[in-house]
Amino acid sequence: MPRRTSTWQAPVEALAAMPEVSGNTVNGLDETERRPASPFFWHEQQYHEFGDMQKYTLNIMYGLEDGGEICEAFRINENFDPALGDVAQNRQFVHRGPEPTEVASEKITQSAEQWTQQVKEFALSHHADVVGIARMSRNWVYEGFSINDYEKNVIVIGVGHDYDEIKEAPSLPGNNRGIVEVGKQYTRAATAAAELNNFIRAQGYSTNCYPGPTAQAVMMIPAAVEAGLGELGKHGTLINRELGASFRLSAVTTNMPLEFDQPDVFGADDFCTRCQVCRDACPPDAIFDDKQWVRDEKKWYVNFDKCIPYFAEARGCAICIAVCPWSRPGIADNLVVKMAKRRKKLADS
Ligand code: SF4
Ligand code: SF4
Repeated sequence: MPRRTSTWQAPVEALAAMPEVSGNTVNGLDETERRPASPFFWHEQQYHEFGDMQKYTLNIMYGLEDGGEICEAFRINENFDPALGDVAQNRQFVHRGPEPTEVASEKITQSAEQWTQQVKEFALSHHADVVGIARMSRNWVYEGFSINDYEKNVIVIGVGHDYDEIKEAPSLPGNNRGIVEVGKQYTRAATAAAELNNFIRAQGYSTNCYPGPTAQAVMMIPAAVEAGLGELGKHGTLINRELGASFRLSAVTTNMPLEFDQPDVFGADDFCTRCQVCRDACPPDAIFDDKQWVRDEKKWYVNFDKCIPYFAEARGCAICIAVCPWSRPGIADNLVVKMAKRRKKLADS
C-alpha cells in the first residue's frame, strides 16, 4: 500500500531543541547485539541528552494558557513553572494516592496462589482495570539503573482511557480533551500502584512502586507483555484484548510470593502486519511499516526523531492509540474472535 504523504513539518524551535545524537541510536535501532536499554527522553534530564527537547515539550504541554487543566489532570504541583530552567526537577507529581507506608514488621505467610488472588482482587477493586504478574527480569532494567534484591516479581497494572475523550486527540490549542484524559489515567494508574504498594507492605513484604509517566529503573512494556497484558502493536505500544491500545501502565515490584501469568498472544501482532491505520494517521510519518531490529530483537518500533516534535506540538499526541481499531469500544472482542478463527484456519490448512 502506498504510504500517505505527510505535509507536517517540525517547527524550527523543536529541531533546534533536539540533540546531535539521534533518539533512534539511543534506543538501539538497527542494532543486532543484545544490550540494556539506555535511559531516554522520559527519564530525568541528567540521564540523557534530550533535556532541551524535554523542556520544550513540557513547556508546550503544561505551559500554555490552558495548561492549568492539564497540570490538574496529571496532578502536577500547582507551583509548577515551566519557564524555570530544570523542568524535570521543577515538575512534581502530587496527590497520586497515599504516601508509602513502612513494611510491617511481621510477615504474613500464605501460598503464592492465595497472595496472587488477593493482590489481583485488591488491584482490581482499587482503580486497576487489568492486572498481570511476571517474574522480574534484569533485562528490563535501564542501563545505569539498578533494582533491589527484593524486587523479584512485578505486578503490572493497566487502566483504560475513556474512548470518547481520547478520540479527541491530538490536543491542539482550544481542545485539551485528549491530553487531559491521558493525565487523568496516568494519575489513576499511579494511585492504583500506590495503594497496592501499601497493601503489600502491610502484609510484611518489601515493594517498589513504578508510576508513570516519568521513566525510572524498570521498562514497563516488556514487563507488561510478560505479565500477559497484551502484545506490542505497530504504534510501539501495547494492545490489550480488553482495553485495546488505549490504556496506561504502572507497576509494583515485590518479594511477596506470587504466581506468574503467561504472555497473552491473541492475534494483535498478526493483525498489525495487515493494518496500516496508525501509520496512515501519524502526521510526521513516524510509524514503520515493518518490524525493525532493536537491540537484537525484531519488533514494531516508532521513529523517535520523527514522533517527538509532533508529540510536543500536539501535547502528548496519542493519535495512534486513538485510531487503533482495537481501541474502539466493542471492537476488541470481535477482533479476538476473528484472529482466533484466522489462526485455526491457517493451522488446519
Ligand atoms: S504519538 Fe503521534 S507522532 Fe508519535 S507515532 Fe503516535 S501518531 Fe505518530
Ligand atoms: S492501528 Fe492497526 S497497525 Fe496500528 S497498532 Fe492498531 S492494529 Fe496495529
